[in-house]
Amino acid sequence: MTGKTIKIKTFNPPAGARGENGPDFVGNLRKGELRGIIKINESLCEGCDTCSKVCPSNAIIGGIGAKHRIDDQKCLSCGQCLIACPFNAVEQMSFVSEVEAMLADPNNIVVAHPAPAVRVAIAEEFGADIGSLSTDQLMGALEKCGFKTYDVNSSADQTIMEEGTEFVRKVQYWVLGQRGPELEKAAHHPLPHFTSCCPAWIRNCETFHADMIPHLSTAKSPMQMGGALAKTWAAEFLYKCDPRKVKVVGVMPCTAKLLEASRPEFTQAHEYAVATGKIPADSASYPDIDCVLTVRDLAELFRRKGIDPTKLPKTRERKDLDVYTGTATIFGASGGVMEAALRTAYRVLVGKELEKADIIPVRGYDNSVVEATIPLPLPGLDKPFDLKVCVVNGANQALNKVLDEVRSNPGRWHFIEVMNCPGGCVNGGGQPVHNVGAAWLKPLFPLSTKI
Ligand code: SF4
Ligand code: SF4
Ligand code: SF4
Repeated sequence: MTGKTIKIKTFNPPAGARGENGPDFVGNLRKGELRGIIKINESLCEGCDTCSKVCPSNAIIGGIGAKHRIDDQKCLSCGQCLIACPFNAVEQMSFVSEVEAMLADPNNIVVAHPAPAVRVAIAEEFGADIGSLSTDQLMGALEKCGFKTYDVNSSADQTIMEEGTEFVRKVQYWVLGQRGPELEKAAHHPLPHFTSCCPAWIRNCETFHADMIPHLSTAKSPMQMGGALAKTWAAEFLYKCDPRKVKVVGVMPCTAKLLEASRPEFTQAHEYAVATGKIPADSASYPDIDCVLTVRDLAELFRRKGIDPTKLPKTRERKDLDVYTGTATIFGASGGVMEAALRTAYRVLVGKELEKADIIPVRGYDNSVVEATIPLPLPGLDKPFDLKVCVVNGANQALNKVLDEVRSNPGRWHFIEVMNCPGGCVNGGGQPVHNVGAAWLKPLFPLSTKI
């Protein structure tokens, strides 16, 4: 089916968008963190209240018939209200002009870091069928703009090695009762293990469910791992340049990624460069990811440059940073992160590859909550250990039910994947918006929240 996309209104980051001239904290927002990424244009708001129904954090203020507005302290920046609004009254902060300026500066090496879900969406903005896979055309169009390319699928493989290993250590410590120096960290991070790659879920957890913070994976998201790697490893061995010349642009299906990139702790490439003497100790700090474009933003950038990715060749030779496994590819759909981590955990804990790599029961596209039991034939145990997992997407009533269950019955699950958007990133707040979309219906009528 060919989709006609809607033009979503955007605005450039206003002065003070990072709280740069204010105190270190305003409520739960730290200096440096973007605020007001999603805002309601009250002159266009009809007060229909659809946005409130899909908001996972009750961040929208206003009754039926009244002009609505967003409380930045509660907002997760997920963009679900933007996708749902039938009057196109919700707007998104955009960095397209900033990226154009980066590309125009010959001193910069500008790296585009596109997420798995982008390649099944960008072509829709140029009239292709909904869900058309256009990986090589996307990469070709990015190169035509002047970017170097670094596929997020590649850094997703690194994320899953980190996260899978972390989960294995927790199982060894909490389930198998093993002890040792390499398991000390696990003692402070109890099961169930929660995924950490969805920034809206992380914001939700920090703001409303702080008791769950010790359960969160400490692995950074693929985007953040990629930003740090591009400015350290790639700067040194691939681009062979001063790391300060490398600018990294996340290309995401997600508006919450704009917030994630601005978190003040994500300056580790700079810390590394200073610690290893690659740049002077008094060099100005820089973020691992300089800014984020949504799929809609990227389409706008392509249009400004006169590039239509659907007209480019459908095949292209893969570059050094475009190499990845099938495990990385499934990150974009609900259940994908869980499935990827379980494949790694199975290999380490059981000592052999999972024979049937597709763990279908955890795929959650059609359900808000999915749970499954995976028998692990662990060495040293008489019978298989039942690993219990849960996948939640469309963080709304479903997530609250799962968290309440964790609090009252902490042994029910060992591993929980949370994705804020219905179906996962494929329905993220940065994706193309269609005249008649289905994404907004799902959180209103979740197919299954029975647990
Ligand atoms: S969905 Fe749009 S028009 Fe309706 S209340 Fe929300 S912002 Fe206003
Ligand atoms: S961006 Fe997400 S969290 Fe913020 S108001 Fe909209 S739906 Fe709610
Ligand atoms: S589910 Fe994906 S698109 Fe939605 S907020 Fe999380 S990371 Fe972003």
